[in-house]
Amino acid sequence: MKISQAEVKASILLRKGLHELAHHRPAQALTFLRTSVELTPPSCEGELSKALYWLSIALLRLDQRDLAVKSLANAQKLRRQSYARKFYVRNVNEYGMIRRPTKELDDLYAFISIQLSSYLLRRPNHRFSSEIEHSTVLKLILEAWKHLKESHTFQNLECGEKLYLFRQLKIDFPSFHVYAAGHQHGESRPQSTIYNIKSCFCGSGLPHTQCCGRVQGLSEL
Ligand SMILES: [Zn+2]
Repeated sequence: MKISQAEVKASILLRKGLHELAHHRPAQALTFLRTSVELTPPSCEGELSKALYWLSIALLRLDQRDLAVKSLANAQKLRRQSYARKFYVRNVNEYGMIRRPTKELDDLYAFISIQLSSYLLRRPNHRFSSEIEHSTVLKLILEAWKHLKESHTFQNLECGEKLYLFRQLKIDFPSFHVYAAGHQHGESRPQSTIYNIKSCFCGSGLPHTQCCGRVQGLSEL
């Protein structure tokens, strides 16, 4: 079998990335591993899965959880019988996000992520335009969370039902200047459906909410 130049380069970069990781330099490792992923042809699933897995480890060490989980999710999709899959299942909660110390924190981070994403998607460049806007929005999200958490029924819901609730709940955010401008394009809130599917329809064998229906991080906007 002929090995392309890109493959050779990708494998050298992967080794360099691993060397940096072993010497506790995740930032340097990140650069090598990212390029290695870019250079690996999609047809080389094993190699790509490996590079994506190590990229997620570097991202985790840099505390970039959103991107780490995205990389890891892709790694385990390519190789279902791999350590990437085992690592994913062990470290990812039912929302498909990196597991937090408690279940309540898992719920909270899923709620914040969904609400922030839905707010930012309607903003120009998907960013806050000021510190005041950022803190006001966060404060309102946390207030909404407090009310939601205190409601009696919430505790007994399953993950899919919670997600449905998180996506349906509309917070009345004040209009910030640019916000009004962005609004003209109409609401782009995604349709929400209750998914309590035990195994995802892509055939991965994972629950839908942990697979194709996972809560995406803000860096994936
Ligand atoms: Zn899936």
